[in-house]
Amino acid sequence: MNSVIFDNSKITPSKVVCVGRNYVEHIKELGNEIPENMVLFLKPNSAVSNELRYVSDDNHYEGEISFLVINKKIAGVGFGLDLTKRELQSYLKSKGLPWERAKCFDGAAVFSEFVPFVCEVNELGLELYINADLVQKGSVAHMIYKPKTILKEVESFLSLEDGDIIMSGTPKGVGKYKKGDKFTGRILYKDTVLVEHEWIVS
Ligand code: ZN
Repeated sequence: MNSVIFDNSKITPSKVVCVGRNYVEHIKELGNEIPENMVLFLKPNSAVSNELRYVSDDNHYEGEISFLVINKKIAGVGFGLDLTKRELQSYLKSKGLPWERAKCFDGAAVFSEFVPFVCEVNELGLELYINADLVQKGSVAHMIYKPKTILKEVESFLSLEDGDIIMSGTPKGVGKYKKGDKFTGRILYKDTVLVEHEWIVS
C-alpha cells in the first residue's frame, strides 16, 4: 500500500475523495456546466504517489488543496496534484462513461507531505509554479463548496478512514506538462507558507 507523510510519520490512505468543478473559473475554462450537486469521485490507494511522472501527451496537472482526515475530521493539509488524462476524460464524459481510466491510473494522485492543521480552513490558499511561472492560484474563499460542507456530504454516504484524503478541486490554470518541468506547490494560511514541495517531472 502507498503512504503519505503526515506530521513526520507515514500514514496509509485507503482512498482519496476528489471534488470536481469546485471553482467557477475552472468550470468555465473546461466549458463545463456549474453542477447542481457536488461532483465527487474517488482515487484508490494505488494512485497515491509522492513522485510526479510524465504519463502521456494529454496528461494535465490540477493543483489542489488537500486535506488529511483523522477521526472523521480535517487533521492535516497538504498540496496535491490530481493528474488527469484530459482527452480520454473528455471522451469518457461525452459517452457518459466512468472516468477511472483518466483519473485513477497509478501515480495519478501526487502529494506533498501533510502538516497538522486545526486553524480556520477558510483562510487557506494554494499556489502552483511551473519552472518559476505562477500557473495556478486559488483559495478556499473561492470554492463553491467549502471543506466542512465537502466532509459532511462525503460522510453522508461514504465512510472516511484515518488517513483518507480529500482533494478539494482545482482553480483555473490547468494544463499539460513535460519531463524535466519543475513544479513548486505551496499551501498558504493567510500570507504564511504552511507547505512547500518541489517536484521534477521524471
Ligand atoms: Zn481535480
